[in-house]
Amino acid sequence: MKKLFLPVIVTMLALTSVKAQPGKTLVTRWQYDRNGAVSITWDDGSVNQFKVALPILNKLGIKSTFFIITGQIPGSQYQGKFIGRPVKDIIKETATIPTNKDNFFERASAAGYLGLIGTLDYHYKAGSLIDAGKTEAAYKAIDECYSKVRNGEFKPGIQHNDEYRDSHGTTWTEIKKYAAQGHEFASHMITHPRLAALDETNLMYEAQKSRLDILHHLGVQYTFSAEGPFGTENERAVSYLSKVYPALRNRMPEPWLKEISRGNKDTPGNTDKEYVQYQRGATTKTPLPMMKAWVDTTINRKDTWLVLTHHGVEGIGWEALPGQELDEYFTYIKNHEDKLWVATFGDVTKYMRERQSAKVQSSLNNGKVTVKVSHPLNKAFYTMPLTLKTYVPAGWKKATAVQGSKKQAIKVLTDKNGTYVLYQANPNALPVVLSGV
Ligand SMILES: [Zn+2]
Repeated sequence: MKKLFLPVIVTMLALTSVKAQPGKTLVTRWQYDRNGAVSITWDDGSVNQFKVALPILNKLGIKSTFFIITGQIPGSQYQGKFIGRPVKDIIKETATIPTNKDNFFERASAAGYLGLIGTLDYHYKAGSLIDAGKTEAAYKAIDECYSKVRNGEFKPGIQHNDEYRDSHGTTWTEIKKYAAQGHEFASHMITHPRLAALDETNLMYEAQKSRLDILHHLGVQYTFSAEGPFGTENERAVSYLSKVYPALRNRMPEPWLKEISRGNKDTPGNTDKEYVQYQRGATTKTPLPMMKAWVDTTINRKDTWLVLTHHGVEGIGWEALPGQELDEYFTYIKNHEDKLWVATFGDVTKYMRERQSAKVQSSLNNGKVTVKVSHPLNKAFYTMPLTLKTYVPAGWKKATAVQGSKKQAIKVLTDKNGTYVLYQANPNALPVVLSGV
């Protein structure tokens, strides 16, 4: 009996490997079936990002993502503060109880709000040690800070960090205008703190209240993405942040995504994951050919999302790059747009998540192909159109795709599996009807 069935199975395998059935549909890995994606992101909202870089992006028609520090924007409701016991009680206690796991976060959270110049530096130092996994050294830094406080070694005054200071000069009215031009605005917290050193209450204040100011001034679609300052990958900090924002540039939870953070010297390399997020941040020491090589790597693969992390521009902000260099770099990216999908951090995240959870149904009737695409994700955020690739009858030369009132003329193409069309489809909407002649 077995012998009889074998030739039948072999024939079926041969048929399916040669031609895809008309109607067979898949969501392409990237929008418009491009080879890879690029997101240009900006941290800290320093003023030349808007005065110098943004006009370059607008000239090229590139949409990017700005992670902004909300506390210093005029009209923001929430500013930095310490929530907890009176700081004088905390200071007093440090005289008798050394810093330990139970009091560290409270002391490190309060350190920037003691009304003294110089203590904020210890908040940053302790946070950077926690980020580096050096817990005992972080406790020592906080002990040193409070010992100096008790000895009166700091002058009274209000201190802000560099990023907070450099982000002065932009208003919500201007930000609203840039958002209307298609750029994504996203949270970089209220004061740019070291989240890994904050206790739960103060960390959530930074995350949630920054979100509320963005929500109030820009609307819910700008509450999707966030970046915890200093690219923290501290698990505790990231897990709190992810309760407030659906997408973090710091870390994503998806098992299908390989992440290479900007501090990591790895290249995308071999992976069995569907996607690679390849973060690179150019500093003043990065040669332009290397920056271009990151783009080339992305073009030459099929799975890579290049996330560029920019900071200062034209003399203002951390590691400020000249506008001329940014112009040349972004023009290089633009010139490869036939191979690259250039989009905001939020849009690429949405596309990948929609695709990974999408359900596609298709049928062929009377020479027309009907395709329905749906996903279970939150419709307040996940409304990115998906690019579908559908195999069609071999004789088609021209085709149209109709979804509701939207009609697209689409090209008929061929690959080794047969004749196909590429088109944009809105998920969780009416079916798309493909017809061809
Ligand atoms: Zn920053």
